[in-house]
Amino acid sequence: MKKENLSLAQRDQKHLWHPLTQHKTSGKMLPIVKAMGASLFDDKGKEYIDGIASWYTAVYGHCNKKITQRVAAQMQQLDQVVFSGFTHAPAIELSEALINILPNNQQKLFFSDNGSTATEIGIKMALQYHHNQGNDRKVMLAFEEGFHGDTFGAMSVSGLSVYNGAFEEHFIEVVRLAVPMGNNNREVLEQLRDLISKYNIAGFIYEPLVQGAAGMKMHDAEGLNTILKVCKQNNIITIADEVMTGFGKTGKNFASEYLETSPDIICMSKALTAGLLPMAITSCTQAIFDAFYSEDISKGLFHGHTYTANPLACTAALAGLELLTSKEIQQDIKRVMESHQQFGQRIKDHSKVKNLRQLGVIIAFELDVEMERYGDLRNQLFAHFMENGVFLRPLGSTIYISAPYIISKVELEKIYSAIEAALEKF
Ligand SMILES: *Cc1c(COP(=O)(O)O)cnc(C)c1O
Repeated sequence: MKKENLSLAQRDQKHLWHPLTQHKTSGKMLPIVKAMGASLFDDKGKEYIDGIASWYTAVYGHCNKKITQRVAAQMQQLDQVVFSGFTHAPAIELSEALINILPNNQQKLFFSDNGSTATEIGIKMALQYHHNQGNDRKVMLAFEEGFHGDTFGAMSVSGLSVYNGAFEEHFIEVVRLAVPMGNNNREVLEQLRDLISKYNIAGFIYEPLVQGAAGMKMHDAEGLNTILKVCKQNNIITIADEVMTGFGKTGKNFASEYLETSPDIICMSKALTAGLLPMAITSCTQAIFDAFYSEDISKGLFHGHTYTANPLACTAALAGLELLTSKEIQQDIKRVMESHQQFGQRIKDHSKVKNLRQLGVIIAFELDVEMERYGDLRNQLFAHFMENGVFLRPLGSTIYISAPYIISKVELEKIYSAIEAALEKF
């Protein structure tokens, strides 16, 4: 058959291999032809509210003109240049704007391409920080059930075995700590002290307050505070993976702002470039940078990606930061938070709503039904939402919303109604 006679979904199947997909059981991919504001449109013209801001990236809305116009202008001026030996205004302006809103102790920014490389670089900074000083510290500490990406270092510190199983023998050395939930903080602290006494721990990587891929699990700020303090006392480099939580999702610019102790290193991606272009940044303190600053060339951080600090991506990030710090977007974030609180009141006493939780614009709960009755509950939930014109990606029985901040009241109500319909249907 000629190409013109095949649908996009059919042509997709010929050469494309999709992420996190078992192609034998997944069925066809849905072609999306347009995205605008909080909406996606498929090739039949059907509209879906993007309830997860396309994996938490497009927080200011899709195809936001304030961002696309800036990037279009930058495209006419400087598209790409090597960032080793050269520099450019978009990267410099972005560094100034970002340092302005990061926790006070952050001083230096290292660019890469995605969340996995951002955490990979954070891990390498922690390991080489100790190596450069002659410390024998080679073990990383991470939370159980954390997720930090799909490259080898990032996989090693992640706790999700569906993704990692085939590669476990090749991992860097990692020890795991239980997540502090308030009622177990004392045990977690004991476990931490025990691990520190047994292993030479170089760094601790964690998703602050919300573990995204684990199912938007939220933990105790007090408990995390204590862990961070003990890490600092023991010269363990703390790495906050804010790839998901960064740029307003928790109601503050960074989740780390809820904590007393600022991390040594912060990993950023996803909403950093507002859903327009892929880029990541790993920021660190002056003390981390100084451990690499030497007459000895081998003490430098010899890590680099071809598209490091791409001027177009930097421009998208800069325009995104201007939006984030604007009155309008800050009001939008508050509005969405309040709206979720009211929705929480509406469903909290429903018999099928378990572990209802909210931080900032993220609201989540487990659908409490007999899983055995639904062999593939997650897929049936997904299909239910899509039929109702709502794009949500349940994680197992966890249903969560993390929509663009600019989502309208009517669009939010459409998501809420689809969830309430699911509570009746399943
Ligand atoms: C998504 C995510 C990553 C990985 O980012 P990619 O861009 O998918 O490589 C790492 N850490 C956290 C917390 C994430 O949510």
